[in-house]
Amino acid sequence: MAENLNLFTSTQDVIKEALNKLGYEESMYELLKEPLRMLRVRIPVKMDDGTTKVFTAYRAQHNDAVGPTKGGVRFHPMVSEDEVKALSMWMTLKCGIVDLPYGGGKGGIICDPRQMSMGELERLSRGYVRAISQIVGPTKDIPAPDVFTNAQIMAWMMDEYSRMDEFNSPGFITGKPIVLGGSQGRDRATAEGVTIVIQEAAKKRGIDIKDARIVIQGFGNAGSFLAKFMSDLGAKVIGISDAYGALHDPNGLDIDYLLDRRDSFGTVTTLFENTITNQELLELDCDILVPAAIENQITADNAYDIKASIVVEAANGPTTAEATKILTERGILLVPDVLASAGGVTVSYFEWVQNNQGYYWTAEEVSEKLHRKMVEAFENVYTTATTRNINMRLAAYMVGVRRTAEASRFRGWV
Ligand code: GLU
Repeated sequence: MAENLNLFTSTQDVIKEALNKLGYEESMYELLKEPLRMLRVRIPVKMDDGTTKVFTAYRAQHNDAVGPTKGGVRFHPMVSEDEVKALSMWMTLKCGIVDLPYGGGKGGIICDPRQMSMGELERLSRGYVRAISQIVGPTKDIPAPDVFTNAQIMAWMMDEYSRMDEFNSPGFITGKPIVLGGSQGRDRATAEGVTIVIQEAAKKRGIDIKDARIVIQGFGNAGSFLAKFMSDLGAKVIGISDAYGALHDPNGLDIDYLLDRRDSFGTVTTLFENTITNQELLELDCDILVPAAIENQITADNAYDIKASIVVEAANGPTTAEATKILTERGILLVPDVLASAGGVTVSYFEWVQNNQGYYWTAEEVSEKLHRKMVEAFENVYTTATTRNINMRLAAYMVGVRRTAEASRFRGWV
């Protein structure tokens, strides 16, 4: 049978198994197997050449029993309804794992920001907020950055929402520039969270970070900050990649140089002649492999060839269900996406709290609070996996879905 590469249905399968193990009846799965709300909009945008282009976009809200929904907005040509649905469910799980008072949400616009001017991007961002304004808001659903969106886009979106609402609403969106109510440390929060779980996972496997050889797939927001943090900790980053290829140096790459040369979409390998493919990168001899790019990278086809002893998923959905089984059977410690990449939404939550109270924290305070949340989350998932003898993904789903299921029950929904 061909492997299931559909993120939505494979997420449903694990949610079902997790609810089952937690002892919930079928009706709880019926409630949680899809988002409660899914809005599809079409956004007309005046392009620089005078024509009008109409973009299709989505906002999914998985479940708001625990609190408002929360999650990023991605700008990408491959955005689809199923992908946005799956991503909103993962946000519920992430928020459950790091214990934030939110349910999951997610948005996406089908577009290629690499081909658009700043003016076009601004008009598209503002158009998206107008199109979804009825279902979002600081106490309803709070967007944030995701693939190919950044603090500038959050600023335009916040401004548009504030104009419509007629008062300044920093709590409408997170990942804003600091001067508009952004939090210290939000830009590097995902990578900082990944760094913390890598350290915890390495302790479990008796690996000293200073001796570790690390491979990172992807040089975007998460991958590039992570490469820097790991090399600052003394680890050897022996491989990195972008959408066009990968670089390998068994003696360790010069990360500061690469960071200096990367463009704003994380492209750097095009500057080099001696490159390897993304597939070869994943199979490099190393201790810790971090897929920090896109979905379905580790599959049944290459799971037997992975040489790392720890795989930490900084991207959403890089490992298929089949590959999860193979890696676990091979004794590889897999730290799943919903745990490893929860640092971003955690600091988004801190940003929202600071916006609500109007009092701002130092970078040290943010970092210390993030550290506490990530370590506790890792321990919870790891203990669930080892005591129940299940894989780390199923354990993470069990920890992640429990609060939403409980809250839904208390509200009398199931
Ligand atoms: N887009 C990020 C994620 O997938 C962050 C979401 C947020 O900060 O709300 O976790």
